[in-house]
Amino acid sequence: LEPAFSFLIRVRLPGGAVTPAQWLQMDRLADEHANGTLKLTTRQAFQLHGVIKKKLKPTIQGINEVLLDTIAACGDVNRNVMSHANPEESEIHAQAYKLAGDISAHLLPQTTAYHEIWLDKKLLVDGKKDVEPLYGDRYLPRKFKIGVAVPPSNDVDIFSQDLGFIAIQENGKLVGYNVVAGGGFGSTFGMPETYPRLGDVIGFCTPEQAVDVAEKILLVQKDNGNRQNRKLARLKYTIDRNGLDWFNAEVNKYLGYELQPARPFHFTRNGDRYGWVKGTNGKWNMNLFVEGGRVKDTESLKLKTALREVAQQVDAQFILTANQNLILANTTEKDKVNQILGKYGVWPVQLSGLRQNSIACVALNTCGLAFAEAERYLPTLISRLETILDEYQLLKEEIVIRMTGCPNGCGRPYLAEIGFIGKSPGRYNLYLGGNLNGTRLNTLYKETLSEEEILAELRPIIADFAQNRANNEGFGDFVIRKEYVKETVQGKDFKH
Ligand code: SF4
Repeated sequence: LEPAFSFLIRVRLPGGAVTPAQWLQMDRLADEHANGTLKLTTRQAFQLHGVIKKKLKPTIQGINEVLLDTIAACGDVNRNVMSHANPEESEIHAQAYKLAGDISAHLLPQTTAYHEIWLDKKLLVDGKKDVEPLYGDRYLPRKFKIGVAVPPSNDVDIFSQDLGFIAIQENGKLVGYNVVAGGGFGSTFGMPETYPRLGDVIGFCTPEQAVDVAEKILLVQKDNGNRQNRKLARLKYTIDRNGLDWFNAEVNKYLGYELQPARPFHFTRNGDRYGWVKGTNGKWNMNLFVEGGRVKDTESLKLKTALREVAQQVDAQFILTANQNLILANTTEKDKVNQILGKYGVWPVQLSGLRQNSIACVALNTCGLAFAEAERYLPTLISRLETILDEYQLLKEEIVIRMTGCPNGCGRPYLAEIGFIGKSPGRYNLYLGGNLNGTRLNTLYKETLSEEEILAELRPIIADFAQNRANNEGFGDFVIRKEYVKETVQGKDFKH
């Protein structure tokens, strides 16, 4: 590798929670070895960008010093396991968070190569071969993504995961999880056989069965996923190729018992609730908006400095949310947090309902797969859209808007009420018709639009929405009712 090549490093962080000491270490590593910023990703992980080759090892060793790692944050393995963002909200949330950690630990590759290469650990017995009890010597056909949701919040976008667990509570107690399989968003322009797909709810398991269910579904995919064509290798294609009945039968066969029938659940939204919330333990939790998930200092906003000061002075957990935001959790020092955030203008802030519900992937100039900007451009486009929304008194309206630089879908644009996917620099496909709770795919509305064309297309729809929406009707529901787009019922029908 050329010495000047730069890399991104992704840290595995099941459920997204770190201690103040771990936050401070990531903050320091970003300054010393990367580009001085932290990216909070849509899978509740950290990314460091701009790490040049000779800095890779000290960075990974620095991550390891605070008991974090980068194992399986990438590759054809189970990736960072997501969970509802705040384990401190209630006992059930804590159990969901614990499940994310348990699954992550259980499905972690056992290879010692990571420790040998990055941490300078020596093998005790020379020539000893690594054994991967789950993954074998071929690993998975493709990456595998797992999430745990606690209704009514669908903040982890459970239907976008290869495998999801929806916490079911009865009489205030967790009784188990509905199991969701076959979600996934990666697709390719010009390849209609690739498409985003929502997962199917296939049954219910008890809390004690959940890790076993995760293992066996991963193994069904390992043994049956497409190993000829990586574009068609995700679990969603395995299910569509063989049928859901076949898949359910295989899962039950691997388990040696049957999943129970799924139980009722209801999601209200997939966005974050900002501001202070008191947990059932009496402690406080502050959900902060982090635009594009980028923690940095600018002339006008010293977010990175503010968070460093919180980590240095306050006893609080730092929790990365699936919406690229941050919760300062489980603290009794509400006033102190307010004082620090206020000093740097981080909180309180006035945000439009559109901006509050925005997600952008990194895209250009960091991601090698990107065709267009996302993180660096979406804030500007939102400002222009806010001007239109303001004209129609819709500034407070919650509308989910997401942008990615390519159809791989890291920012889950396929669930947005207004979704953008980059086609080429400055040009985007526009998708409409997702909803507020992440249960419906959107539909292509117009292709290859410039900014001027985007604003020209959206202005009359926003005006129509302001005048003709039904009571409390969401923007995504409205565009379907008014037939701006047809509802996408199943992934196979999705067109780019
Ligand atoms: Fe993911 Fe594509 Fe965005 Fe890169 S440009 S981060 S691959 S969605």
